[in-house]
Amino acid sequence: MDSLDRLEEIFSHFPGIGPRQARRFAHYILNKPASFSHQLAELLKKVRDLAIECPNCNRMYMDSGEKKAKDIPCPICQNPSRDHQTLMITARDSDFETIEKSGAYRGLYFILGGTVPILDKEPEKRIRLRKLLEYISSLSDLKEIILSLNTTPDGEHTANIVKNSLEKMTTTAGRMITISVLGRGLSTGAELEYADKETIRNALSSRQ
Ligand SMILES: [Zn+2]
Repeated sequence: MDSLDRLEEIFSHFPGIGPRQARRFAHYILNKPASFSHQLAELLKKVRDLAIECPNCNRMYMDSGEKKAKDIPCPICQNPSRDHQTLMITARDSDFETIEKSGAYRGLYFILGGTVPILDKEPEKRIRLRKLLEYISSLSDLKEIILSLNTTPDGEHTANIVKNSLEKMTTTAGRMITISVLGRGLSTGAELEYADKETIRNALSSRQ
């Protein structure tokens, strides 16, 4: 396998990309001037080197300086003008990004890190459930938790697992926290990542 084959193989593992698209990507790069590849390689390295996982919401974000600031919450978690009474739970960073870019939500986030397949017996290994419960315990002003997961079978299954754990936890701790789920506007089988601004706004305002 030469380097071009290897590049095609790497692209074919990207989400939503098949072997034919992977080949087109590889040849696109090959046909661009050398400077394009060099800049791309440099950018890939930079993105990786400057990536930090937020200790609060767990999303990956870019360090603004050149030094890695470990254990420092991301700008959203640190922003005092955000609504610290509301926490939104999403499966992945890409879902977070779609919601944040819609501008329809001003609260805090927590990224679960994935979803739990229906027959899976060990949800703790798939999602950051324990970390979520710990984080919620530390948020003393919290009034509402919004579950924003895909309306696919795995997404709904995950939402049920998280909801049950949250209800148990808030009851035990004697806390009054509303737990809501994104509502109408997100049709069955919808993937949050691809939802447009209007859909997210509708789903948020009709949460139940
Ligand atoms: Zn954060």
